Amino acid sequence: EARKVPSRIVFYETSMSSDITEKIILENDLRHALDNHELFVEYQPQIDLQTGHILSVEALVRWQHPSKGMISPGLFIPIAEESGIIIPIGQWVLETACRQVKQWEQAGLPPIKVAVNLSLGQLFQQDLVEMIQSVLEETDLDPKYLQLEITESMTINIDHITMILHQLKALGVTIAVDDFGTGYSSLSYLKDFPIDCLKIDRSFVQKIQSDPTDKALVDMILSMAKHLRLKVVAEGIEEVAQLNYLVAGHCETVQGFLFSKPLHPTYLQDNYQALQDN
Ligand code: C2E
Ligand code: CA
Ligand code: CA
Ligand code: CA
Repeated sequence: EARKVPSRIVFYETSMSSDITEKIILENDLRHALDNHELFVEYQPQIDLQTGHILSVEALVRWQHPSKGMISPGLFIPIAEESGIIIPIGQWVLETACRQVKQWEQAGLPPIKVAVNLSLGQLFQQDLVEMIQSVLEETDLDPKYLQLEITESMTINIDHITMILHQLKALGVTIAVDDFGTGYSSLSYLKDFPIDCLKIDRSFVQKIQSDPTDKALVDMILSMAKHLRLKVVAEGIEEVAQLNYLVAGHCETVQGFLFSKPLHPTYLQDNYQALQDN
C-alpha cells in the first residue's frame, strides 16, 4: 500500500520514524546498560601549566553497546537526560570516579582531583546533596578532591540552583562552570552561584588563531576570571600555538588532545610518570 503514496513522502516518513525508533531502541538499551556493565568511565588529564603535572582529571562516561559498539556520550547523554536515566547513570559515574581517585591514592600516585559532570536533571533530584555526601563518605574521599561541573543551562532556575550549589559547597566540593560562554545566558548568575572555576569552551580555544572574536572572548574570560578570583581551565587544546597563547595569558590549567585523550584508569595509573614528562 506504500506504493500508492508519492515516494518523496514515503521516504520522508520512513526516515523520520526510523530515527524515532532508533532513539526508542537506544533508550531501552540504555536502561539495561548499567546492570549489564556496559558503561565505564575514562579520565582526561587537566595539566597545571605552572608545574606541568596532572592536577586533576575529568571523568567522562563511555558506553560499550553489545552490538552497536562504542556510542558517544554526545548521543546517549541527551537520551539519558530526556528519559531520566541520567539519575542512576550520574550517581554511578560519581561513585566510580570517587572510588577511582581513592584507588589511585592508595596505589601511591600524587593527589589527583576529579571533575564530574552534572546534568540539569540531577540538580533537581530530590536527594542529590545527600547522595553526594554519602558517596564521599562511602568512598572516604576528601571532598576537596571532587569538582562538580555545571553548565549555563542551569541558570534556568537561579534561586533553586543557587540553593543547591551552596549546599554542595558546604560539603567541601568545588564547582566549575563548563562550556563557559556558550550558554547565551546573562552573566549575572556569577554573583549568585558559588563558583570556583570557569572552563573555557573548546570552540573558543580552537579558533584562537583564526578568529579575532574568539581570541577576544578568551582574553575576556581570562581577565574576568582573574578579577573574580576564579580558576580557569581551557578545554580542547590541540595545538602548540593555542597552548602558547594561553600560557602568555596566564591561564592556569589546560585540558585537550595535545596533552592527552580521555584515558582508561589503569592506563593512566601505569603511565602516570610518562604523562607528566610530556
Ligand atoms: P564536555 O563535558 O564538554 O567534555 C569534554 C569533551 O571534549 C569530551 O567529549 C572530550 O573527550 C572532548 N575533548 C577533550 N579534549 C579535546 C580536544 O582537544 N579536542 C576535541 N575535539 N575534543 C576534546 P566526550 O567524552 O565525547 O563527551 C561529550 C559530552 O558528553 C561532554 O562534554 C559532556 O557534556 C557529556 N558527558 C560525558 N560524560 C558525562 C557524564 O558522566 N555525565 C554527564 N552529565 N555528561 C557527560
Ligand atoms: Ca565537562
Ligand atoms: Ca566542556
Ligand atoms: Ca561540551
